[in-house]
Amino acid sequence: MAELRLRDLVKVFPGQKTPAVDKVSVDVADGEFVVLLGPSGCGKTTLLRMVAGLEMPTSGQVVIGGRDVTYLPPRERNLSMVFQSYAVFPHRRVRDNIGFGLAMRGVPKPEIDRKVKWAAELLQLTDYLDRFPAQLSGGQRQRVAVARAIVVDADVLLMDEPLSNLDALLRLNFRAELKKLVSELGTTTLYVTHDQVEALSLGDRVAVMRDGRLQQVASPLEVYDNPATEFVGSFIGNPPMNFLSGTVTDGRVVLSGGDHAPSVFAPAALSSFTGRDVRLGIRAEAIQLVDESSPGAIQARVDVVEPLGSAVLLTTTVAGQQLKVQAPATFRAKPGEPLWLELPEQHLRWFDPETALTLEM
Ligand code: ATP
Repeated sequence: MAELRLRDLVKVFPGQKTPAVDKVSVDVADGEFVVLLGPSGCGKTTLLRMVAGLEMPTSGQVVIGGRDVTYLPPRERNLSMVFQSYAVFPHRRVRDNIGFGLAMRGVPKPEIDRKVKWAAELLQLTDYLDRFPAQLSGGQRQRVAVARAIVVDADVLLMDEPLSNLDALLRLNFRAELKKLVSELGTTTLYVTHDQVEALSLGDRVAVMRDGRLQQVASPLEVYDNPATEFVGSFIGNPPMNFLSGTVTDGRVVLSGGDHAPSVFAPAALSSFTGRDVRLGIRAEAIQLVDESSPGAIQARVDVVEPLGSAVLLTTTVAGQQLKVQAPATFRAKPGEPLWLELPEQHLRWFDPETALTLEM
């Protein structure tokens, strides 16, 4: 195990004007699990491949355990990888698939047998060791790929969307298994996904990427609660964070939307923005349904009602702007009806409309 440090990594592919990865620096502490999260094409795989040594950076540095490995070939980096496609050898039995990396490293047979047995037990593959991959389910095949990656005592484990070929239920179960396994092993791990739920559930920290750049690196709770940018707020969470436009006046923010638009409390730190536009962010579940007479009640109109089982998701309009509200499962409303809402002060997040960056409070 070791610490992984990425310093100002840049990758510009030949013939491309914009970098696929643009000055990314992340440190993954010894034993830490960091998830790289972002939409398709944001550069996650390219970044991971540079760590693996499968792609040469245009500039920047990859340091594993204090050793600069930027220009070393993959086999000299002591890392193991699990990819999206079950990269298992179809003509080898499960035990030989799991032991493959060890055999390649010249590990003696009894040691290989011992480690294969250990990994098979951890990943519940003991009964399948003599089968061929074609005789396994998708989930079992992916477990073989994980088993093969963990037996080699690598310094760093790299995983690229390892759950994406599994169906929804299997994915959910395997996600929990993987979380338990990785925390028991304590291996330094860099994990790529475009699935925000997976990222929040697995990561000690989540590194959110967009267009080759890092937007925020923080704990799952922090990226959810205090997104550094509007992009992070809308990429993470289902539904995405709501964003409303407004103008700072004396101690209030008046929502944009005409003469009688409602206003909300503005924190003192916004006073330097008086007269200027700001963006207000709030999560759907933080919004309170209140009585018309309640102080601070804001009028909304219900547009869409979606019962989700555990809650009811309402799409509403406030001052001409859309606002998603999570109501209790028992809540009943019809489109077109009025509704009164409170946006609690402690849940309001503020963003600069020009940069879409959070305003430090
Ligand atoms: P996905 O989630 O879809 O796998 P990603 O975030 O992993 O996406 P990358 O595969 O790293 O994204 O790609 C980042 C950008 O670099 C994309 O615009 C992609 O088209 C481009 N790209 C990737 N590989 C190459 C290549 N070999 N040559 C040129 N451009 C490439």
